[in-house]
Amino acid sequence: MKKVLTIAGSDSSGGAGVQADLKTMLANGVYGMSAITALTAQNTQGVRMVQEATPEFLAAELDAVFEDIRPDAVKVGMVASPALIHVIADKLKAYKAEHVVVDPVMVATSGAKLLVDEAIEVLVQELFPLAEVITPNIPELSVLTGAEIADEFAFEQAAKKLAAEAEVNVLAKGGHFADDASDLLVLAGGEGEQWYRGTRVANPNTHGTGCTLSSAIAANLAKGFDLDESIGRAKSYLFGALLAKMDLGRGNGPVDHGW
Ligand code: PLP
Repeated sequence: MKKVLTIAGSDSSGGAGVQADLKTMLANGVYGMSAITALTAQNTQGVRMVQEATPEFLAAELDAVFEDIRPDAVKVGMVASPALIHVIADKLKAYKAEHVVVDPVMVATSGAKLLVDEAIEVLVQELFPLAEVITPNIPELSVLTGAEIADEFAFEQAAKKLAAEAEVNVLAKGGHFADDASDLLVLAGGEGEQWYRGTRVANPNTHGTGCTLSSAIAANLAKGFDLDESIGRAKSYLFGALLAKMDLGRGNGPVDHGW
């Protein structure tokens, strides 16, 4: 059995964060583990409160996992603050973690901030170099490059810029465009690119889709698939989870991991 660790925030409503990650891992045939960076009190309508882990506690979680059940891949989601990013980067380096997928989570679907502004530079400097791939959505790509992204041309340019400057493989997610669901992988240093053309599913319940995609990529990397195949499989999995059209809660509901 392959093992995958998620380093992310907890979502009490079960739609995003660690809960989405663990459900995705189970459905993708790997054993899931979690190191929780922050507790969020939230539901489909919004985030009510956030309680960050202390750096000491997060370090203890990571040591406990790595010293006993070594993960074959790691997904990093909500990292909250510079102090927690330092801990994650130190531990991933110390334990020589493999197949690290970094989802640069900044803002919840509901609009709540999940990363303090001062942490963005630290994320780029400390975690991107450890990543096999990063998975920004359009608003995150825009923050990371300073570019305004109104069309597919600007989207492609921004993904190329980030891959070249940060020297990291970038899977730019196009799901925020109104009429398209295509994603673009640009390899580190801009050496090669690959489009993943998707069909848009008319489902307003998208809470946790970013978490689901990055966890499914990590699960498939752990199983030994290469990056291209892992992304293809992760997209198919998310497509099914959206297509199941589950409708829970009064707000932006979660996708269905049991389809
Ligand atoms: N992590 C946590 C703890 C969250 O609460 C959220 C969104 O609410 C996310 C990550 C990002 O969610 P999404 O996958 O919808 O981008």
